[in-house]
Amino acid sequence: MSTPRSADYVVVGAGTAGCVVARRLLERTGATVVVVEAGGSPDGIASSTDPARWVENIGAPHDWAYSYGPEEHLDGRTLFLSRGKVLGGSGSTNALVWVRGHRADYDGWAAGGATGWSYDEVLPYFERAETVDVEQTTDLHPVARALIEAGVSYGMPYLDDINVAEPLGAGPITMDVAGGQRTSTWTGHLRPVRDDERLTLLTGVEVTGLCLRGERCTGVRVQTAEGDVEIRADREVVLCAGSINTPRLLLSSGIGPAAQLREVGVDPVLDLPGVGENLQEHPIIAGLCFEAAEPLPAPTHNLEGSMAFWHSAPEVAVPDLTYVSVQIPYVSAEVAATHPVPANAFVLAPGLMSVRSRGRLRLTGNGGLDIVANMLADPADLEAAVAGVEIGLELADQPAFRKLVTRRAAPGAATDRASLTAFVRQAAMPYFHPVGTCAMGTGDAAVVDPQLRVRGLEGLRVADASVMPAITSANTNAPTAMIAEKAADLIA
Ligand SMILES: Cc1cc2nc3c(=O)[nH]c(=O)nc-3n(C[C@H](O)[C@H](O)[C@H](O)COP(=O)(O)OP(=O)(O)OC[C@H]3O[C@@H](n4cnc5c(N)ncnc54)[C@H](O)[C@@H]3O)c2cc1C
Repeated sequence: MSTPRSADYVVVGAGTAGCVVARRLLERTGATVVVVEAGGSPDGIASSTDPARWVENIGAPHDWAYSYGPEEHLDGRTLFLSRGKVLGGSGSTNALVWVRGHRADYDGWAAGGATGWSYDEVLPYFERAETVDVEQTTDLHPVARALIEAGVSYGMPYLDDINVAEPLGAGPITMDVAGGQRTSTWTGHLRPVRDDERLTLLTGVEVTGLCLRGERCTGVRVQTAEGDVEIRADREVVLCAGSINTPRLLLSSGIGPAAQLREVGVDPVLDLPGVGENLQEHPIIAGLCFEAAEPLPAPTHNLEGSMAFWHSAPEVAVPDLTYVSVQIPYVSAEVAATHPVPANAFVLAPGLMSVRSRGRLRLTGNGGLDIVANMLADPADLEAAVAGVEIGLELADQPAFRKLVTRRAAPGAATDRASLTAFVRQAAMPYFHPVGTCAMGTGDAAVVDPQLRVRGLEGLRVADASVMPAITSANTNAPTAMIAEKAADLIA
């Protein structure tokens, strides 16, 4: 197919957000839409369609394969950062948990200046996004069942639906699955309309820059077999390239902190200090590892199947911790090096879900990216993560887990605060939830306004996980789909 030279809308990236935006623009407007996606189709890729094989997506050819670090507060470790490079984006490669987050997340966005994004205002968009099939897990693996039983005997409520407004407690999860196969915004939103004559879906094509004329974004530059081509957007360009590549495109097009851009040889076009700043990520502690007493059955669901939401301290109002029990010995390389991990083992993994630490991404002079999540930089985050491990050890000591376990492989015998703090710095891994690098708001640090328009430019919006002003207190895929649903309303 030859590359079209113009359309009403150009959507950059067909990931979780891009597939929704494109579908809704086709439905709501009579407009033509070009979607440019760097990756190809996930449809024949087993790791992308079979839920229990999702971990094989990490580092696969359809992964952008970024990294965080060195992370100063994690003993200088460098951490792999997976991002899907495929139709459906990270939603075609992720761990398939569909969870909206807590009412307070969105009320917090609205209170901080994101007018129109309170929980009550975004709820209809979650509901609309859920026309993609999602299912609750049943027939749980013994390790998944044990997490729920242990949570309840520890004192947590049983949580029969993780998508209530204020999730607290332990229960089965909702997954992006139908008939045993992964669903995504690709399968649910864009694939069904791919033959629409108003849609041009370019795959294997990377957007390399934005075309700017005065204060207007007029289109994008793409690299194709025909060479560098400009695609004009008669109405708008919508950036849906995700929390790493959306700010990367803005920065390389001269939109960002002017002094920083000059340092790496990019002529600033618009001084927008927030681009690439405010990066937030959830640390997952990988992990509290237990040798199983009996051979464990083959993994099921997404290797987890259940989840718990809890507080790191009684006075923490919104649950800031989650727990998953992973049906394989999922531990960081550093934990594996110091705590020999048996084959027949499982992991209890605390996740820190509300974070004060902020990272950032920058261009390097040679066209690369320097991304630092700064995980656990804020002492409060470190303290909450250590509390998460302490509570995790108490959960593991409940009868439901005790009967499954012969011995603990990690952490070691010493469980004083200093030892667990050292363990956390070695065990923390990213949940692969980067957000916030093009934050929505009204202050100087905001990159987009509450209508998702890039501040200071016409014809350019961002609609993806990068616009979250603050990370949600659960996984980030459903909130991204919600953002895309609302974006389509704002555009159309
Ligand atoms: C391994 C993994 C596990 C995860 N597990 C979960 C989970 O279980 N539950 C959950 O809620 N969240 C999970 N997440 C996070 C969640 O998937 C993301 O928050 C969400 O997909 C982000 O959506 P997005 O639209 O912002 O970006 P993406 O879905 O990443 O989409 C960006 C798209 O843009 C394309 N693109 C980027 N740059 C360009 C360019 N220059 N030109 C053309 N195309 C481009 C990319 O190839 C990609 O398709 C996980 C993520 C990963 C990677």
